[in-house]
Amino acid sequence: MANVGMANVMVIGSINMDVVNRVHRHPRPGETVHGLGTSYHPGGKGANQAVAAARADARVTMVGAVGTDGFGDELITNLQRAGVDTAAVLRKEGTSGLAFIDVDDAGENLIILSAGANGKLSPSDLVAARPLFAGADIVLLQNEIPWETTRAAIAAAHDAGVRVCLNPAPAFAVPADVLPLLHLLAVNETEAEAVSGVKVTDDARAAEAAAQLVAAGAEAVLLTLGGDGVLYRDRGGRSIRLPAYPVDVVDTTGAGDTFIGAFAAEWVRTGDVAAALHFAAAAAAISVTRPGAQASIPARAEIEAFLA
Ligand code: ATP
Repeated sequence: MANVGMANVMVIGSINMDVVNRVHRHPRPGETVHGLGTSYHPGGKGANQAVAAARADARVTMVGAVGTDGFGDELITNLQRAGVDTAAVLRKEGTSGLAFIDVDDAGENLIILSAGANGKLSPSDLVAARPLFAGADIVLLQNEIPWETTRAAIAAAHDAGVRVCLNPAPAFAVPADVLPLLHLLAVNETEAEAVSGVKVTDDARAAEAAAQLVAAGAEAVLLTLGGDGVLYRDRGGRSIRLPAYPVDVVDTTGAGDTFIGAFAAEWVRTGDVAAALHFAAAAAAISVTRPGAQASIPARAEIEAFLA
């Protein structure tokens, strides 16, 4: 198991480059419009959560895949710069995962997600990564790589006695037999509805969804509620509802990933759920005050200063 006082976090998931184009207005089919500028932002839910945990001072190992294109080199270097161990990141022939994001003057997005190498990460790729489970306290999974690979990772982590956190995003109905294998199910309102069938419209419905997910087998549920904060509930009957820290919001992209990565790192390090919730809420609050996903994720010192 881990060194005392240091969380060992393993992330098995997506690594993307977000290619963002600003336009006055989106083109209609067949039409060409002039772009106002292009920027590149490393993203992908797996990589975002890995960076969030690493900035919270966890020791983080990333298992995933990038392409043999130039983006692949950049994405790996970017993770390394954040302190993430990328030895288990594979190169797959072809393009890296890419998100083409067009943003118009009204702030409306059009997004095309091209899975690239993420879509080629197979269950057999996990065989080489199996020894890494021995050194991990928790494994973080999302839904941007093939589900059969995520499912195999959940089974392997379970066999190795490693805690499993699943964030089923993009939202989908997690199979009922998987829920009892989860130590933490991390969902936003949309994902909570996709898994539980309960539409989260207010606090009472949030509590109902969380209770139902625990009853369905998840050991603990983390239900993030955007600017309304978070609800935690576990099998032991503990329920913690925390409001969001009031901040001036600039860009909420990646807030959920920041919350999950920071929570996992702090929860594993201290075993204190309430403190980890405050820590993660502070990390996410700071992240929404700045543009970008990974670029906006704060380091531990900044989070602690925010909480002081
Ligand atoms: P995203 O898809 O943008 O990454 P998400 O839908 O997965 O986000 P949210 O539930 O929107 O996740 O937000 C996650 C956490 O971020 C919230 O629980 C909260 O702590 C923090 N947060 C989000 N929006 C705000 C806000 N407006 N002010 C303060 N904190 C916020």
